[in-house]
Amino acid sequence: MVTLTFLITAGPTREPLDPVRFVSNPSSGRMGFALAEAAMAAGHVVCLIAGPTCLEPPSAHSVVRVTTAEEMRQAVLSRLADSHVLIMAAAVADYRPASFSPAKIKKGGGPLTLTLERTPDILMEAARIKEHRVHVGFAAETHDLIENARAKLEPKNLDLLVANDITEEGSGFEVETNRATLLWRDGSIEALPRMSKQKLAEHIIQAVVAYYGG
Ligand code: C5P
Repeated sequence: MVTLTFLITAGPTREPLDPVRFVSNPSSGRMGFALAEAAMAAGHVVCLIAGPTCLEPPSAHSVVRVTTAEEMRQAVLSRLADSHVLIMAAAVADYRPASFSPAKIKKGGGPLTLTLERTPDILMEAARIKEHRVHVGFAAETHDLIENARAKLEPKNLDLLVANDITEEGSGFEVETNRATLLWRDGSIEALPRMSKQKLAEHIIQAVVAYYGG
């Protein structure tokens, strides 16, 4: 059996506005943690990069804790060359406050207007230096699941995109199960039934290892 090195990201990122406030999302990290566990159980080497989660990450070969998208970017890019497979299961915040206030922003009577800017797209940057590495992305969508997901495969140069409709019961953030559709680079689509994130993780790891070898 071939032993691969997996670089797996999990959880949300947090983009600070001031010392006590941030922009984020409710990702629990469960899907990425389940992937790390499944890859380790199958005998592979795992480096797990985790955003701020309440759940404890599993003890992978190395676990790196990060907070912001920029920190996750640096943690991923510096380890890419040593990895056979990159799985970006993290729900990276797409926007961050354009400026950080070192002092807590005082509330006033009127509305507060925030300017947000895009965070770096980690998968897009990794795509430019992909070579033979297998890249897997996740897409959480609220509508037009397949079309929106398919539109991400090519620009991000992905081998596999795992798409799920987060409006569906038992799928997406903060739940134990997921109903995913796998979109492969060659155009093939595999619609999976609802299953635990653990079972889905095992399926993805097996499929990716077979793809790598094949
Ligand atoms: O946000 P989007 O739907 O484009 O996310 C698709 C994939 O891109 C996910 O795997 C996510 O981890 C990754 N991503 C990223 N950097 C970002 C935003 C998303 O690598 N700034």
